[in-house]
Amino acid sequence: MLVVMQAQATEEQVRAVCNRIESLGLKAHPIPGSGRTAIGITGNSGAVDVGTLEAMPGVVECIPVSKPYKLVSRDVKADNSLVRIPTPLGEVVFGGKAIAIVGGPCAVETPEQTFTIAGHVKDAGARLFRGGAYKPRTSPYSFQGLGEQGLQILAEVRERFGLGIITEAIDNESLDLVEKYADVIQIGARNMQNFSLLKRAGRSKKPVLLKRGMSATLDEFLMAAEYVMSEGNYNVILCERGVRTFADHTRNTLDLSVIPAVQRRSHLPIVVDPSHGTGKRHKVLPLSRASVAVGADGLLIEVHHDPDRALSDGPQSILPDEFAQLIREAREIAQVIGRTLN
Ligand code: PEP
Ligand code: MN
Repeated sequence: MLVVMQAQATEEQVRAVCNRIESLGLKAHPIPGSGRTAIGITGNSGAVDVGTLEAMPGVVECIPVSKPYKLVSRDVKADNSLVRIPTPLGEVVFGGKAIAIVGGPCAVETPEQTFTIAGHVKDAGARLFRGGAYKPRTSPYSFQGLGEQGLQILAEVRERFGLGIITEAIDNESLDLVEKYADVIQIGARNMQNFSLLKRAGRSKKPVLLKRGMSATLDEFLMAAEYVMSEGNYNVILCERGVRTFADHTRNTLDLSVIPAVQRRSHLPIVVDPSHGTGKRHKVLPLSRASVAVGADGLLIEVHHDPDRALSDGPQSILPDEFAQLIREAREIAQVIGRTLN
């Protein structure tokens, strides 16, 4: 259910409606738009009795939301959501005219490796750095990440280079730590339907980068975002990272058609990760070009100065020079479609 408020409704009127919703044992989600505020209602198992709500001062109407996802839906919020990430180098916004570029290694391996790559990422013009301190690996014998020590290295990256930090939480325990150190909490593909983790991320004050599960349909992907938002965290960035198909020329099949599909159904920003989406270094630049052209709000790129010796995902990590070239080309393509680079 969505309560649409009048354009001139006062804050007090919005608050009164929220209080009434909460007094019915439901959850109210005020959603400010460019013209008016709407209030999403969740927590109801059947239809909400709107009788009393519709009569309240400032209310225009109550509209049932038929989609399974509600807070995520464009029906509830017509304008694009802007997710703002403050960094020492300035604010990076996902979902606006500017496309955000994120670079970094798959894993934080050592302080030297991390600082070297951070220097290159910054020199190329990016303001967000992504590296894993907790790695969800297929094999328990593969490098699992440095844990909190890795988070401390990332905090030092922010301090030394001014870059904002995105890093993954793999369970509730690591999320407690990640939210202390990072600017954005990443939830990985393998955890897209870890509902307790999604709810925990929903109670965090930090923005969440939610990757699509490797076999997730669009509805399942949006429902995962709904889990985060239903707990009150509306700063969600979606990420397409490829899905499993029968194709064996790539690690995953990068589903770029999901970008306009998401944009039609949801107001949330969506970025593309062509590194995991292809698994092959030589495919990252062409698929990055395509991602910008198709309308992605950002790119997540794995970069390593010595990929042959990387402890994880070396074959899909591009070299710093290639990352700089990727940014130059992305900027030109962005211009063609009336966008800029963040
Ligand atoms: C990663 O970002 O390094 C990662 C493990 O990605 P995904 O969850 O998309 O596999
Ligand atoms: Mn990786």
